[in-house]
Amino acid sequence: MKGFCGVALCISCFLLNGCLGSVNYSRLIGAGSQAVQAAAVSDDDLRGMSLKMRQQMDSVATVAADNDKYTKRLKRIMAKETNVNGVPLNYKVYMTPELNASATPDGSIRVNSGLMDAMNDDELRFVLGHEIGHVAKGHSLNALRMSYATAAAKTAAGALHPTAATITDSGLGELARGFVNAQFSQSQELDADSYGMDFLKANHYKTSAAISAMRKLGSSGGGFFATHPSSERRLRNLEALERGEDPKTLTTDSDDKK
Ligand SMILES: [Zn+2]
Repeated sequence: MKGFCGVALCISCFLLNGCLGSVNYSRLIGAGSQAVQAAAVSDDDLRGMSLKMRQQMDSVATVAADNDKYTKRLKRIMAKETNVNGVPLNYKVYMTPELNASATPDGSIRVNSGLMDAMNDDELRFVLGHEIGHVAKGHSLNALRMSYATAAAKTAAGALHPTAATITDSGLGELARGFVNAQFSQSQELDADSYGMDFLKANHYKTSAAISAMRKLGSSGGGFFATHPSSERRLRNLEALERGEDPKTLTTDSDDKK
C-alpha cells in the first residue's frame, strides 16, 4: 500500500491508471441501503474514517523518522503548504523505491523515497501539489464516499457504522482496499494538474518542473504512456498552462477521445 495518487497512492495517478481507482459501480448500485447510507455520511465523518485508514496504512509502511534526511527535505520543500481549505496537512515519507505519492481526505500526504530520489525539489512540489489538488477539489473525499458504499455492502452490519469511532479493523481494511484501487477520472486528473501548476506559479517556483516531472513519470518503469493514454493529453495541457494559455483551446485528437 505505498503509492501516489490512489489512496495508497495517487501516484497511481501518474503511473498506473489515473489516480483513484476504479470504483465498483455495479456493486455500488447493488448495495441499495448501503449506498443510501454512504450518501448520508457527513464529510467530517468521512475525514475521521480517512484518518484511521491512513494510520493503518502508516502502521504497515516503513516511515522515515522525523530527523531523517528525506523527512527534513519533504518538510522544507512543502513548508508553505500547511493546510488546504482549512484541513491541516501532514507529511511523511514511505521508504520504498516505487515512484509514487498519495493524499487522503484527512490531509495526510505521503511520498515514497523513490520518487524523492527521482525528482528535484520543484518537480516534487508539482507532484505533491497535484495530490493536494485532489483533496482541495473534493476528488479524494468523493472517492472515499464511493469506497465506503462498496465496503459497507461487503462487511458485516455495524463494521462500517458512519462514525469513525465505531469502525472495525475489517471495515477499515475494506475501505482502504476500495480507496487504493479507486481511480480518478481524466477530467479530475487535469484539474489536479492545473492545481499543481497554480501552486508552482503562486509561489514562484519553476513551472517547467511540472513538464519535466510528468516526463520523468512517463519514462519510468511504470509504462505510464503505454497504460495511461491520457498522459499525453495531460502533458499538452501542462505545456499550455505554463505558457499562460487556456488548455480548452487545444485542438482535440484521438488521444482526447480515450
Ligand atoms: Zn491524480
